[in-house]
Amino acid sequence: RREWKRVVRVVKEVEEECEMKVERVRKVVDAMVVEMHAGLASEGGSKLKMLLTYVHHIHLPIGSEKGTYYALHLGGTNFRVLRVRLGGEQSSVLEHEVEQQPIPQHLRTGTSEDLFDFIASSLREFIEKEGDGSELSLDRRRELGFTFSFPVKQMSVSSGILITLTEEFSIEDMVGRDVPACLQEALTRKGLDMRVSALVNDIVGTIALGHYHDADTVAAIIIGTGTNACYLERIDAIVKCQGLPTTSGYMVVNMEWENFWSSHLPRTLYDIDLVAESPNPDQGFEKMISGMYLGDIARRIIVKMSLVSDIFGPISFKLSMPFILSTPMIAAMHEDDSPDLKEVARIFEDILEIHDLPLKARKLVVKVCDVVTRRAARLVAAGIVGILKKIGRDGSSGITGGRRSDAKMKRTVVAIEGDLYSSYTLFREYLHEALNEILGEDIAKHVILKVTEDGSGIGAALLAASHSSYN
Ligand code: ADP
Repeated sequence: RREWKRVVRVVKEVEEECEMKVERVRKVVDAMVVEMHAGLASEGGSKLKMLLTYVHHIHLPIGSEKGTYYALHLGGTNFRVLRVRLGGEQSSVLEHEVEQQPIPQHLRTGTSEDLFDFIASSLREFIEKEGDGSELSLDRRRELGFTFSFPVKQMSVSSGILITLTEEFSIEDMVGRDVPACLQEALTRKGLDMRVSALVNDIVGTIALGHYHDADTVAAIIIGTGTNACYLERIDAIVKCQGLPTTSGYMVVNMEWENFWSSHLPRTLYDIDLVAESPNPDQGFEKMISGMYLGDIARRIIVKMSLVSDIFGPISFKLSMPFILSTPMIAAMHEDDSPDLKEVARIFEDILEIHDLPLKARKLVVKVCDVVTRRAARLVAAGIVGILKKIGRDGSSGITGGRRSDAKMKRTVVAIEGDLYSSYTLFREYLHEALNEILGEDIAKHVILKVTEDGSGIGAALLAASHSSYN
């Protein structure tokens, strides 16, 4: 009995530490706004990088783009090429075709010329297969949006210098070079008459796709394996970059919010251990909210529970393996609605090799999943409201006589992409619940989260269209 009490106490403690009452959520909202200001004020002024994208509001796709455009998405160990045919009205995508290929290992550690030659050859093959069915008129060059999922410092919408490559790649000569130019040169070498019109970060592709379908889109969030956000900022508020033409009014700013940090985040010992054991001690916000980590936070809590009691049987070797519990497994246990929590028992059997977990322990495991997921959803909600507050769309500017007024609140759309939101129902519900709590229902009803799919592919092709030199 004493042991059981200890297990319950572990869960109670973590529940209290992760609790985010609305006052605390508001503190995170305000911290986000402060950091956004700091990141816009000077380079390195905040953990939020607040990167300029050179995608101006007036150049976001609006749904009337017409013609065939291409995208190339390079990230991870694969690359994809896409062809998208746009109808010219009502945000239609008449057809889109995708081809994915692995990047051979030797090209991931060779020279940039070899890598881009390989990609250009694949693009050429992709285009040669089009045959006569192509809608493209002969006097036009093909145009391509290039989604490059690595940190770059952009100089214009179609140029940017690579800052660093991540784990899967080590191509020394690429660092410090203008990546779209490298691609452009390879296309020319391979005899492909194609122009790289836009260098796109995944998150910018997401806002572009959102905006194509709904012109009230002002921000975008990705919440999948990783997380990021971007939004439309007034150019004169981007203090760190003097001399930008202010005629267009607004530019997309890529927040790189995975690195956001504030003392108001409800950090537990489990988070501290997770960060300490990870190769990259940054990305504190991401490590509390994204799909890569939620499963492992829950696992760490369950390890602690199993250390204070033998209700989980002898210490399971499997349970001690980092990342063995994935976020989809957490979701499956959390959403298990069978009376005896069969799914929890199954995952414990199959994955952790912990047999015959008693029902009362299964219930506590569900509670752990709930605590971790609810905290993540409320933090994402705080981030979203932070953006809305920064751009004056949180309703607070309309406060009159102490009451929020929704009369002046504009319809505000946030594009959202990623499986955590689209496949994890309880995460989504907690997120909406938190938005309602922070904003109040009168304001929250004007804020619409719209799911996009494949911003990094289709969104990039749309940016090639809206930045076409034939417009
Ligand atoms: P990306 O890897 O590009 O972020 P996704 O948006 O597809 O791609 O997100 C995948 C991540 O979402 C996975 O790493 C996983 O953590 C999480 N995920 C996938 N399916 C589910 C699910 N049903 N419930 C909860 N999380 C999920």
